[in-house]
Amino acid sequence: RKGTAIITGASSGLGLATAKALAETGRWHVVMGCRDFLKASRAAKAAGMEKGSYTIVHLDLASLDSVRQFVANVRRLEMPVDVVVCNAAVYQPTAKQPSFTADGFEMSVGVNHLGHFLLARELLADLTSSDYPSKRLIIVGSITGNTNTLAGNVPPKANLGDLRGLASGLDGVSSSAMIDGGEFDGAKAYKDSKVCNMLTMQEFHRRYHGETGVTFASLYPGCIATTGLFREHVPLFRLLFPPFQKYITKGYVSEEEAGKRLAQVVSDPSLTKSGVYWSWNNNSASFENQLSEEASDPEKAKKVWELSEKLVGLA
Ligand code: NDP
Repeated sequence: RKGTAIITGASSGLGLATAKALAETGRWHVVMGCRDFLKASRAAKAAGMEKGSYTIVHLDLASLDSVRQFVANVRRLEMPVDVVVCNAAVYQPTAKQPSFTADGFEMSVGVNHLGHFLLARELLADLTSSDYPSKRLIIVGSITGNTNTLAGNVPPKANLGDLRGLASGLDGVSSSAMIDGGEFDGAKAYKDSKVCNMLTMQEFHRRYHGETGVTFASLYPGCIATTGLFREHVPLFRLLFPPFQKYITKGYVSEEEAGKRLAQVVSDPSLTKSGVYWSWNNNSASFENQLSEEASDPEKAKKVWELSEKLVGLA
C-alpha cells in the first residue's frame, strides 16, 4: 500500500517541496497540515501535485486547540499515519516586541516547538499502531541552533540557560518571553526553538524508540535562502542572503534539492537509524551530523520535555 506522510507547513518552502517530491513517487499520500487552506491548495496546484495525491487539513500550530482538532480530523480521514514531519516554523528576526500564540506563549517557541510537541505526542499512538514497515517521526532542525558550527555562532546565539522563562510559560508578563528568561530577541527565540526541536527528537528516541520501533530523526537540509522563512527580514538582507549563501558560504540549496533531502529522511530505506541529526555534504550525500553540546544535552532534553508537557496540558 501507499505510505501516508503528514507534513506541517506544507504550503510553502521546504514543506511544499517535500510534499511534491513524495507525491511524485506515486508511493506516498501526503496530508498537508496548513494554517491557510486556500494558500495550501493553490500552492499544491501550482507545484503540479496530482489531485488525489494529497489531502489538506487545517492546522494552526499557534493554537493548542487547533492542534487537537487537527489530530481528530486526521483520525477521521481513516488513513494510517506512517510518517509525521514537523516542519512548519516562524522566524521573526526584526520583531521589536514578542507576539503570542492563542495560549499565550511567545510565537516562535510556541509554534515551532510547543505546537509540534503536542502534535507529535498525540500522533505517537497513531504512528505506533501503523503497520507500515518503517514508521518515522521527523522534526526539522537547523544549523543556526547549533553553536558548534560557524552559522550557529552568528549572534545572537541559541542558549536555553536554566529554562526559567519556559518554566514560567513564556508569557512575557509574569515571566520573560524568552526560554532563558532574558530580553526578547526574535532571532534568538527562533534559534532556541530549533534547539528544542533537536532536543525533543532525541528525547523521543530515548523514551520511545525501543518500545514503538518508530524512527525519530532531525535534519539540517542546507540553507534554503529563498523560502518564505526570511519574509520578515529587512529587504536588503533578502536581496543579499541568497547570493551570499550561494557564493560565499556555499551552504545554499534550492527548495527542490532540500525537499528531496527531507523526502529521503521520510522514505529512504538506508535512513532508518533513530536518534540521528542528518546533514548533507557538498556532493549531496547524507551523513550523521554532530549536534552542539547544548543541543545534545540529555539532562536539558529531559527538562525541556517535562516543562513542555506541563505547558501543553499533558502533565
Ligand atoms: P517557509 O516560511 O517557506 O515555510 C514555513 C511554513 O510554516 C509555511 O508553510 C507556513 O505557513 C507554516 N507556518 C508558519 N506558522 C504556522 C502556524 N502557526 N501553523 C501552521 N503552519 C505555520 O520556511 P521554510 O520552508 O524555510 O521552513 C521550513 C522548515 O525548515 C522550518 O522548520 C525551518 O526552521 C527549517 N529550516 C529552514 C532553513 C532555510 O534556510 N530556509 C534552514 C534550516 C532549517 P504559511 O504558508 O501559511 O505562512
